Amino acid sequence: MSVFDCDVIVIGGGPAGSTAAASLARSGHAVWLFERDQFPRFHIGESLLASANDVLAAIGADAAVRKAGFPEKWGATFMSADGLIQRYADFGVAPGVRTPQTWQVDRAVFDELLLRHASSSGAKVHEQHRIMDVAFDPDGVTVTVQRSHDAARWDVRARALIDASGRSGILSRKFNLRVDEPRLANVALFSHYSGVPRPAGRRQDDIRLVARPDLGWFWLIPISANLTSIGVVLPEAIVRGRSADAARLYEQCIADTPVVAELLRHARREWPIRVEKDFSFSSRAYAGDRWLVAGDAGSFLDPIFSTGVAIALESGLEAAQAVSQGLASGDLSAARFTKFGRRQRQRYVSFRRFVLAFYTPEFRDLFYNPQPPKGLFQALVTVLAGYWRPSVQTRFRIWLFFRLVWAQRLFGFSPRFTASKDQLRDDKTAAGR
Ligand SMILES: Cc1cc2nc3c(=O)[nH]c(=O)nc-3n(C[C@H](O)[C@H](O)[C@H](O)COP(=O)(O)OP(=O)(O)OC[C@H]3O[C@@H](n4cnc5c(N)ncnc54)[C@H](O)[C@@H]3O)c2cc1C
Repeated sequence: MSVFDCDVIVIGGGPAGSTAAASLARSGHAVWLFERDQFPRFHIGESLLASANDVLAAIGADAAVRKAGFPEKWGATFMSADGLIQRYADFGVAPGVRTPQTWQVDRAVFDELLLRHASSSGAKVHEQHRIMDVAFDPDGVTVTVQRSHDAARWDVRARALIDASGRSGILSRKFNLRVDEPRLANVALFSHYSGVPRPAGRRQDDIRLVARPDLGWFWLIPISANLTSIGVVLPEAIVRGRSADAARLYEQCIADTPVVAELLRHARREWPIRVEKDFSFSSRAYAGDRWLVAGDAGSFLDPIFSTGVAIALESGLEAAQAVSQGLASGDLSAARFTKFGRRQRQRYVSFRRFVLAFYTPEFRDLFYNPQPPKGLFQALVTVLAGYWRPSVQTRFRIWLFFRLVWAQRLFGFSPRFTASKDQLRDDKTAAGR
């Protein structure tokens, strides 16, 4: 007979792990969560999507998040490098978006809030405890845990395991599940700044995304009254030919992106530039006998549309629901989790289509077009707000938009987007001649 310490072990206290643990605990299951760090801790990924509201409400964390006073996000402004072209994606007018206003978050604060919420929901949270090994047998799962301060190790046994270890991907590495995305081989360089000017009005705290002519882009995310997260994402191929010094490369990117250079003229960088790369991948499987992977531990897509935390929250909740049903039925087999795995894959594929398209000139031509067909653009915004399974009508409009992108590639019927309005005007003049 197996003796279990708990029903479910969750690895990782990021948004996916905390959500899974909170949901399971609220359903009456015994959950132990292991997190290698002590919270609060820094994490990149600060702009949420509107769909995150649904998950925060489902685990009862919405009131606490609202009370925390994070900057309000109503949408995104997509800008050209000179700032003269601006395309506003307003979550409020996109069909099917239930609660359009979401948040820009300091992840140290947000992640700690969710982890404490999991704890107060009844999950047993162990910080500074690293999972060193995982072993499955027909009756359960045993993990080897190491405590940070004295390196003491011991084994913990449960009926099921949710891996939410982020890009450490403990099960992904163990079972060799990771599938790279060579078309999204990008590098990100970023820091936090104070003193960055913001627009006035309701949109003052929205994310701003600035397209660069080299298909790279900048993000500007206000994460508090004073701080703005600013990062640049560049295709790896371009970085290869540039300065090896991250700070120098970052400064060069600022200098050749006029609107960012202007916004940073009187700003102060708060800490040295950090670098992340190799962050886009999917998974061969999202579940097996007694295990599921959630959030980045399964897959992650380039940050252009800020999908990471929304996916982590959703998949954490769905993993918890699948395990809860499995515990109730006494069946924790891979077959029981087929639906969970299918949904993770479908979500990844839906967002991936948009992300890959953004790195093509023809998508940008139409996306930044001064007069995009209104209904079609709003349909895109539904997905950009996180609602990856929209109504049939919205899906049809999105299909139509992608047909136009295809036609643009072949016939170039729309003015070229060149990251600078002057060039766009020149193109139009040339076309009229
Ligand atoms: C450059 C960049 C920009 C991004 N921008 C955005 C954005 O604007 N918006 C957005 O939504 N997303 C963004 N993301 C993505 C976002 O950061 C992630 O998708 C999100 O953090 C995933 O949450 P998670 O809970 O799956 O993993 P994480 O938040 O990474 O949490 C995993 C946790 O597991 C712990 N852990 C790891 N190994 C172990 C172990 N062995 N034992 C115990 N604990 C362990 C870690 O310490 C960590 O706390 C960005 C990502 C990058 C790279």
